Order: sequence, then C-alpha cells, then structure tokens
Amino acid sequence: MMIQPQDISYRTFYDKLTGYRVSRLMLQAARSGIMEIVGPDGNAYESVQNALPWDTRAAGRFIDTLCGLGFLFRRGTMLFRSPFSQIYLSADSPRNQLNTLHFEEKLQDNWQQLEKVLTNGARLQPVDKSDEEYRQDLRLFLGAMDESAQIRSRELLETISPQETGTIMEIGAGSGAYLAAFLETHPGWQGIFCDLPDVVETIATDHRLIRLKNRMRYAPGNLLLPDDPMWKDLSEPVDLILASNFFHCQGEEENAGILQRLLPLLKPEGVVAIHDFFKDTGHRGALYDLHMMLNTYNGRVYDTEETASLLKSMGVPFISIHPLPSGSAVLYASRRAKYLPEVDPFQVLKRKATELGFTQAVAISPPKVPVARWVREKCRTGCPNYGIKGTCPPRTMEPEQMKTLLREFKTGILLVGEPPLRTYHENLLEMEKTAFKRGFHKALAFTGGPCTICDQCRPDNCRYPAKRRYSLESCGCDVFGLAKEAGIILTTLEQKTDYVQYISLLLLE
Ligand code: SF4
Repeated sequence: MMIQPQDISYRTFYDKLTGYRVSRLMLQAARSGIMEIVGPDGNAYESVQNALPWDTRAAGRFIDTLCGLGFLFRRGTMLFRSPFSQIYLSADSPRNQLNTLHFEEKLQDNWQQLEKVLTNGARLQPVDKSDEEYRQDLRLFLGAMDESAQIRSRELLETISPQETGTIMEIGAGSGAYLAAFLETHPGWQGIFCDLPDVVETIATDHRLIRLKNRMRYAPGNLLLPDDPMWKDLSEPVDLILASNFFHCQGEEENAGILQRLLPLLKPEGVVAIHDFFKDTGHRGALYDLHMMLNTYNGRVYDTEETASLLKSMGVPFISIHPLPSGSAVLYASRRAKYLPEVDPFQVLKRKATELGFTQAVAISPPKVPVARWVREKCRTGCPNYGIKGTCPPRTMEPEQMKTLLREFKTGILLVGEPPLRTYHENLLEMEKTAFKRGFHKALAFTGGPCTICDQCRPDNCRYPAKRRYSLESCGCDVFGLAKEAGIILTTLEQKTDYVQYISLLLLE
C-alpha cells in the first residue's frame, strides 16, 4: 500500500518494517502443509500441533501466531482456516497461490542484492544453472504466473466485450492462463500462443490448454529475434494482440522492434491490449520497476504516456486505459477510435479525478454514508459559519432528508483532496460535469467545508446558485465515519499546520 500524505502513523512504519516477517510466515505455513492438516472442516488444536514435524511447544507458538494474524482461528479446542487462508493458502482452493509463495522466496534472494545492483546499475550476472535446475525454476515460474493470472485474467476480461468471432494472439503467453480464460469466455474465437520454445514445451501438457487444442495453436519462438522462423509462421491477420506482463521484461528498443514486427499482423480494425504494471496507474508499478532491475537484463516498468506514444508513433493512435482492481492496468490501442473497447465510465471518472489532483477516489455505496443528528449540533454550537454561509445550516438539508436522498442513488465516489478549498470546489464541479456527460444523469456533488466561491457570502441571495454545493457535514454526514467506511485515513488536526484534506461525495446513477 502506498503511504498517503496524511499518514504519519508509527503503525504504518512498523507494518512496512516487518512486512517480510509475514511473508516468511506465509511461506512457512505453506511449506508445513498446516492448512491441509487443519483441513476445510477444521481440526483439533492438539492434533494439528502434533502433526507438525517440529518441537511441540514451538509448533504451538507457530499456530498461535497464525491465529493472531488472522490466517487461522480457534474455537474452543478446534482450529479453522480463515476465509483468506482458505482461498490463497490451501492446496484445495482453485485460487491458491502456493507456487507464487515458493517463487517469491527465490526472488527474495535477488532483493538481498539491491545495494550491489544499484551500484552496478543493472542486474548482476545470474548464477549458472544445470538443465534440470533451469527446468524446475521455469516450472515454478510458470506455476506462479498461472496463479496470479487466474485472478487477474477475470479482471482483464471484464474490460473487453469483443465481437462474436475473431483471432487473438497472445505474446509471451507464459502459462496460457489469460489466453485460455479468453477463449473459454469467447467460444467463437481462435487463439495463437506465442512464447519461447522451452515455455511451449513445458506448458503444452496443461489440461486446460489441451481442452482448447482445436481452437488454439502454438507459435514457439523468440520474439526478440527478427529472423526467428516463428515470424514466417505468423502470417494470418489477427483481431486482438494481447501482451500481458510482457513489455516490462525488455528495454525500449526491443519492445519497439517487437511491435514493429507484430503490428503488420493486426487487422485494420484490430486492437492491441497491453496488460501490465504501469508507473502511473498505481503504487505497484513503482516497486515493480526495481524488481525488474533486479531480475531482468534491461526490463523496466513504463508509464502509460510513453507506451501510448510508442503505439501512436507506429500508427495505432487511439488509446484507452483501464486500471484494474489488483493494481495492474490494461492499455488498449487501435487505429480508429470506434474499435476501442467500451470504456467503463466509473474508471474514466477515477482517472479524471487523478488528473484533477484529487489524492484519492474511492467508490462508496450511498446508503452506507453515516448521517446523524449530532453532526448538525456540532455545526449549530461550534461553527462560526452557522447561519452565515448560504451552504451552511440552517439553510441546508435536514439529516432525515439527506438519508432519503442517499437512498435514491445506486453508487457514489468519495473524492479526497487538498487546499486551497476554492480550487478543490472547482475541481469537484468539473467531476460532476464529467459524470453527467458520461451518462450519470443524476450526478450530484456534496462538497467539503464552507462555500468559498465569493469573498463575501450573500446567504439569502446567492450570486452563483449553479456553482454552490452543500457540504457533506452541513447535511448531517459524519465525515470521519464515512472516511473510515471507505478505508481513508482521516484524523483530527492537532495543530493548524497539520496536513488538511477535504472529502466530498459525488453521487452517481
Ligand atoms: S456562491 Fe457565493 S453567495 Fe452563494 S453560497 Fe457560495 S459564497 Fe455564498
């Protein structure tokens, strides 16, 4: 998680400091098979303790730690998996991440080299591996990629609804999880799987891919080499080129070369989909960039702007970007705007919020907005603007009216920003206008703080009624409670110089 500007808590410092301990704990849990010993229906504490191949008292402390951190929970003498462990740490879960955990352990060794790599300016020469070691690592790598793709492919597929039939080519297809998920969702499509011959050989026995063998073919080869025989084999035009977590493995020149060779294969109405961690679409991209420095020869994380520029320079100028819930994003590019996948209007609003300088934009269900009478009493008895400003009580909505109004909206977005308040308010109005234009015809904004449009307010004869908006707190909304509900850290100010942030609500439908 990125540290928010207002977060000065020691707790965050400590969580960051000790994150590796939790990572080690999860790995040890996976290694010990404790989730399988506990089982889907639970097991007696003592049986689990005795089944672990360690000193009994130490095993008890290990179990207690897992309980303390929410990986297991105890009811009387019984132990149970938590829902989190059930999904991610249990071998019987289709979404388990056990290969990922084991692969991360190998990556941790490379992170130990950070100082040396920074001094060197590039990755250190990797240790030579035997053929068997290489194959084992490749299998583990593909397994880890597959587990993550099982989760991320669903998010990716939600951003695209293509025509009934077509051909998709995935480059750097890895475990084939994205390609398989796409073909399973779109039965009229054919697929081309491109990756290194070693990868194709390792993955070709995967039962999911075998099931799709009549609709998919392999094109083994090295995309980096312009004279690889694979290019001769890739002659049919395709509707969709997918590159998932691929471009970050190479430098700019290699990527430009690959695109130059690939784009002639794209039909005039075709679409390129680049799914990756980007520097500017979430904090994960920043960390991933160093990760690439440590683990690849010249790979790095790109931002959406430079990726879009590269595609534009190659005659694919129309771009749309969709950040995905797990921290990656997909960038679509096409030669004509009308061929781009439909854009999720909610994601457009989030992006617009970032452009306007809001520090956070968080979706919220309007009925969950806490509204209470005590908030109005705080206005009446403690605020100098009471009765003075046209957007302050008693000229605003009563809490009961606010509750009714909130029930009339399906969704909303909380917008967090910084002073000056007048600019913040103007940006909020811009957000409301954008939402309206994007089809949210009921878009209605509630601001944070008193109206600052005019230097001198005329409360009963407002100069700019089209611009004024009630503040959330003036209508009885408990803004601190609301922030908590949305996972936004908001603290009371101890001093005037403390970091101030405003919270507003844009109701949408
Ligand atoms: S727009 Fe001006 S007059 Fe109207 S409420 Fe705001 S400050 Fe007062």
